Amino acid sequence: MLLNMLMSDVLLKNYIDGEWRLSSARDRLPVQNPATAEILAEVPLSPGDEVNQATAAATQAFTDWRRVPPVERVQYLFQLKGLLETQADEISRLITQECGKTLKESRGELQRAIENVEVACGIPTAMQGAFSEDIARGIDEFMIRQPLGVAAAIAPFNFPAMIPFWFMPYAIACGNTYLVKPSEKVPLTMQKIFELIDQAGFPAGVVNLVNGAKETVDAILQHPDIRAISFVGSSPVARYIYAQAAAHGKRVQCQGGAKNPIIVLPDADMQMTTRIAADSAFGCAGQRCLAASLAVTVGDAKTAFTEAISTTAANRVTGNGLDADVQMGPVISPQSRDRIEALIQTGVDEGAKVLVDGRQPQITGLEQGHFVRPTVLQDVPPTGEIARTEIFGPVLGLLHVETIEDAIALVNRSPWGNMACLFTGSGAAARQFRYGAEAGNIGINIGVAAPMAFFPFSGWKDSFFGDLHGQSHHAVEFFTQTKVVIERWPKEWSRQF
Ligand code: NAD
Repeated sequence: MLLNMLMSDVLLKNYIDGEWRLSSARDRLPVQNPATAEILAEVPLSPGDEVNQATAAATQAFTDWRRVPPVERVQYLFQLKGLLETQADEISRLITQECGKTLKESRGELQRAIENVEVACGIPTAMQGAFSEDIARGIDEFMIRQPLGVAAAIAPFNFPAMIPFWFMPYAIACGNTYLVKPSEKVPLTMQKIFELIDQAGFPAGVVNLVNGAKETVDAILQHPDIRAISFVGSSPVARYIYAQAAAHGKRVQCQGGAKNPIIVLPDADMQMTTRIAADSAFGCAGQRCLAASLAVTVGDAKTAFTEAISTTAANRVTGNGLDADVQMGPVISPQSRDRIEALIQTGVDEGAKVLVDGRQPQITGLEQGHFVRPTVLQDVPPTGEIARTEIFGPVLGLLHVETIEDAIALVNRSPWGNMACLFTGSGAAARQFRYGAEAGNIGINIGVAAPMAFFPFSGWKDSFFGDLHGQSHHAVEFFTQTKVVIERWPKEWSRQF
């Protein structure tokens, strides 16, 4: 339905107070299919006034929504889950068209979004409080969780369906009302999902969509009635959002960028390790915050892993993610492609050797697309720019150390802390690694250690600003405020029966 609409009406709308509204924005951006460079739609960069309208609707809706019992609130989420499943094929195609990843990757992403709806459907249990009888003679104390009010999500481009779902289902299930600001690079997926939110029958104003970029975000940051902000994106913007939201007295959680190392010990199963490492480094064209970006071989692992990963990288089929045999799609924009290629050159200038060079690829029939093929750089200097900078493209840097202690020290010297993975056949090495590695998400013989919806999506150091993460019980904590009540009911103060 949305795709048909785009043919005739390419300007995307906002969804405010239960209705679709045209933005008054003068500034608009084209939304491009990164594989073909086709313009799919135009997205308005909504002015602050439209954030004000959405917040006013959400504030008004909050009064009734918080009174709806949790068991009733989750019925809307059950409806939404059904609609997301029914429309999964269309949503997945849309993700691929605007974001570039393969259809299989898009389906996987949507599945992760749906799983968060499922976990949030358990809110009647998840937001239960606690009760202590007789904290003193005849006195009881209990803690209840109440919603905050209006909350908002500001999302990045690389998971247009999943990332708002790390927050939104929990926020509304807990009784808050909500505002989503998708990435202006990939706004179509949320436009489609909000059609389903509309069909699910949420009361007007409970969930709102405002498209836009910096001006829209700044209006969210400054609005006095928005109580909490969840951000996912690059670390410089995460820092800014964290500081601004805090300065305006809001709760805030900001998930930032990454530079994820995987460590390969000599006793790892080299075939399995290579397959998993390649999926991590080159899946989603390296545009995952949990993409392996550095592979550190230990001792004798070097030769076998280097040869195997180079062959796998060179053979990865790159093209339009809608085609069934394609294993890797384009990167998001020409600017991103140029930046990635410049960073590969920086690596070369720093002394790294290009084992597989993915720059300037020729992809027949997709000459206008924004492609970089898988690239492998050997002997990346550990303190150089290429070892420290998030590339966010299909580029894997290889480093080598002699011991697992050296590898853990290298992981821990990094300013980033999103993910670190170890490949080994040794339980003792695995324990040493998970105990000592300073990162919020750890993989043992896993290449993308993405927590399931019933665990928090962790992240440490410069990859995260805040204390409570997205998903699961962290989200419930984030979207509720605790109230503690101490009660005494002396018999002599009450009527006797
Ligand atoms: P980005 O920081 O450019 O944009 C993210 C959001 O912030 C967008 O909605 C954008 O409109 C807004 N924004 C951008 N610049 C802004 C500014 N100056 N002021 C206010 N708002 C601004 O990120 P991106 O390029 O869309 O996404 C890729 C980044 O996201 C990567 O760094 C990746 O590692 C990170 N990411 C992190 C996680 C995680 O869980 N840690 C998950 C996914 C993506």
